[in-house]
Amino acid sequence: MKTRLLRELPSVDELLRSAPLKEASALYSASAVTDSVRASIEAARSGIISGVVTAISFDGLVEASLAALRTTQCSRVRRVINASGTVLHTNIGRAVLSEEAVEAIRLASGNINLEFDLVSGERGERDSLVEDLIKRLTGAESATVVNNNAASVLLTLNSLAEGEEVVISRGELIEIGGSFRLPEIIKKSGCILKEVGTTNRTHPKDYSSAVTDKTALLFKAHTSNYTVVGFTAEVGLAELVDIGKKHGVPVVEDLGSGSLVDLTGYGLPKEPLVSGSIEAGADIVTFSGDKLLGGPQSGIIAGKKEFVDKIRKNPLKRALRADKLTLASLEATLRLYLNKDSLPARLPTLRHLTRPLAEIEAAANKALGLLKEKLGDGFEIRVEDGESVVGGGSLPGHNLATKVVSVTHKTENPGRIMKFFLDSTPSILGRINKERFLLDMRTVEDPLDIIPSGRF
Ligand SMILES: *Cc1c(COP(=O)(O)O)cnc(C)c1O
Repeated sequence: MKTRLLRELPSVDELLRSAPLKEASALYSASAVTDSVRASIEAARSGIISGVVTAISFDGLVEASLAALRTTQCSRVRRVINASGTVLHTNIGRAVLSEEAVEAIRLASGNINLEFDLVSGERGERDSLVEDLIKRLTGAESATVVNNNAASVLLTLNSLAEGEEVVISRGELIEIGGSFRLPEIIKKSGCILKEVGTTNRTHPKDYSSAVTDKTALLFKAHTSNYTVVGFTAEVGLAELVDIGKKHGVPVVEDLGSGSLVDLTGYGLPKEPLVSGSIEAGADIVTFSGDKLLGGPQSGIIAGKKEFVDKIRKNPLKRALRADKLTLASLEATLRLYLNKDSLPARLPTLRHLTRPLAEIEAAANKALGLLKEKLGDGFEIRVEDGESVVGGGSLPGHNLATKVVSVTHKTENPGRIMKFFLDSTPSILGRINKERFLLDMRTVEDPLDIIPSGRF
């Protein structure tokens, strides 16, 4: 039978002569149509050989070719509605940009004064687009920007301590996720890691006694994605700065997320302020542009001019420098911080973190009605209490009360429901908790956004 089926397979030309594919050739390029026809014939051929295809139809192959064509022609970048309950979800692009930042990206898509001083008519410095704002918001003497905070850490270490020792507490040798492990970054930056203290307790004397003439830096990392509780001791930044001063060794702090405003003013828990670290005397502070800051993916290096200058002169800076779209949208984001009163309304990250529960509940109730109508029989849809997390390694251990829409089905498992919402256009990302598919409304501004486009 396999031989018969293989013989029955139509040729590429026969399929191309069909009306739907002729029509498609007028819309797409002829070669794209031919490629998808070849792919669908090839798929059918291997299906026959493996035994999963037991009958072939001409129309079926035409349809498969059209489907393949649509897949290759449609953009790989797809919009995702974040109903995951994680406000800063790294896998879907962390911070949602403000309208101002989006406008800045549009502006920067053409030519801009990226490294061009419009006053003197001469070559300028790309950091100048954002440096004054960072200085103003953090109190730092100087600042520079790279592609992400992992790059900030790598570049800072390599610029200030290559070939020398970096002292860090064992309690701060963190892994951030992906493959960002501090001990490995220290090694890759050409520095020698000198661990001190223990996982739960590190004392000032641990640092003091570790400093030798080979020590180039005292390094402090904010343990952003976990908390150590119980019998613990940590040397605070101010104390570390004192130790550094006594031995003439600079102190670097990697804040990870860091914040430019006091979040407690908005009813959120305390996250270390970048300005606090600068004030406490850190020589360099590194932090992300797309975590709590709420801007584009970027890494900010702020601190004493002497050290930032050294970092800027490192040839690696050229390899890690931020592009014009990033710098433009970062500038627009930082500018929002100049008006703290309008910040929660203008900056989506802060708007989502501070969204009143009553508003989330209203959105959930609206979504409930719409989903009941759309999904129909077999589904049970309810509004329930839930908890959102900040994500991006920010505010560890702190969850925010929220409202979720739970979607369950009499016979279908939650994984299948999750897949159905992901297949929607745009994709809708929820999460599964205790065998239930949940849509967290905290980050969904329009309830219509979580109504799937297709039929279950
Ligand atoms: C998130 C984080 C990083 C990495 O920052 P990215 O912007 O993701 O590259 C580094 N250090 C700490 C402490 C972090 O929390």
